[in-house]
Amino acid sequence: MTNQLNDIPLTEHFRLREFECRCCHRVRLSPKLLFCLEAFRTLWGKPVILSSGYRCEAHNRAVGGSPRSLHMTGQAADILVSFAEQPAAELLAAKAGFSGVLSYGRRNFMHLSVG
Ligand SMILES: [Zn+2]
Ligand SMILES: [Zn+2]
Repeated sequence: MTNQLNDIPLTEHFRLREFECRCCHRVRLSPKLLFCLEAFRTLWGKPVILSSGYRCEAHNRAVGGSPRSLHMTGQAADILVSFAEQPAAELLAAKAGFSGVLSYGRRNFMHLSVG
C-alpha cells in the first residue's frame, strides 16, 4: 500500500492526487467536477490524463491562468486530448455535464469546467 499524500481513490478512475496543485500539492476539488469527469471517462472509454487540476494562486499566475480561473476553486481541469480527437471529446464532455468546454487545438489539451 502506498503512503503517498493524497493517493486516495475517489472514483473508479480518479485519485485525489491527480488533482493536486503541481507546485505545492494542496488540493481543492468540486464534487461536481469529479462527477462530470467520471461520466466523461465512461463515455470516452479510454484513460483520461489530467495535465492540470487545482491551482493555488501563485501557480495559476505562473502558468498564465486567468485571474478568475476556475482551477483556483477546484472547478476546472485540463485533460490531454489530441487535436484530432477534440471534436469527438467536446460532444462527450457536453453530454457528461460540463458547463465549460474549451479546446486548445494543436496544444493537445482541453479545459473542462463546472459552474
Ligand atoms: Zn501551488
Ligand atoms: Zn484549464
